[in-house]
Amino acid sequence: IARKRFGQNFLTDQLVLSNIIATINPQPDQSMVEIGPGLAAMTRLLLDGLTTLHVVELDRDLVARLKKSFDPAKLIVHEGDALQFDFSALPVAAGKKLRIVGNLPYNISSPLLFHLAEFAHLVEDQHFMLQKEVVERMVAEPGSKAYGRLSVMLQWRYHMEMMFVVPPTAFDPPPRVESAIVRMIPKQTRLACDVRKLEQVVTKAFSQRRKVVRNCVAGMFTEQQLLDVGINPQVRAETIALEQYVALANLLAD
Ligand code: SAM
Repeated sequence: IARKRFGQNFLTDQLVLSNIIATINPQPDQSMVEIGPGLAAMTRLLLDGLTTLHVVELDRDLVARLKKSFDPAKLIVHEGDALQFDFSALPVAAGKKLRIVGNLPYNISSPLLFHLAEFAHLVEDQHFMLQKEVVERMVAEPGSKAYGRLSVMLQWRYHMEMMFVVPPTAFDPPPRVESAIVRMIPKQTRLACDVRKLEQVVTKAFSQRRKVVRNCVAGMFTEQQLLDVGINPQVRAETIALEQYVALANLLAD
């Protein structure tokens, strides 16, 4: 019954499932939302540890199944697109923050991560199953091949850690790629800058990966400006640290 257009690969491996739940470690009275519960493999186990759980699911047939299978006082089902969902509308106890989890549809993982970033100030942590290659890009350090726009933009906002790798055989149907669980914790203190400016700089810097940074950002920054923030104009974007991108973003006029 899996639908390709909804990125449906259902987790079936019980050991992997219990490892995920142990990593998330749900506790009663925590406010949690699961994105894309599907056939509820994770949902069921999460509910063992929680008083209530919110879920956001796009597939109407799966929504109907979820509503039929669970007590509506425990499982609150939101039918809709997680990319449009207003996570700030979910109820959270005073002084508490939201925990977000999900075995995400891989075809929308980047836009979803950027949508969720807008709610980071309300979030305690996020645990996601993603394509392993995407998790590698998220946690990549300057100088590595995987380091790029996704690394810089998300590392500005979150501490991130790859928890463990999950093989295709853990799913039905098996995806074509390896997966991994990532933990994301919003940073208490971020380097001060306007995120739209940072996005502009980073997108430009990584626009032509084979060129040196001076050529990529020509028209945006002079060679002297690069030198002023400690960037060698002859290096490539993938060697430049977050702090230096932030310094560049702060040179841009409003
Ligand atoms: N959590 C289940 C599991 O682990 O077996 C299902 C995971 S499956 C990879 C992704 C789930 O996300 C599917 O149930 C799919 O219908 C749902 N989905 C796809 N696109 C979505 C979207 N834009 N918003 C919310 N849910 C979506």
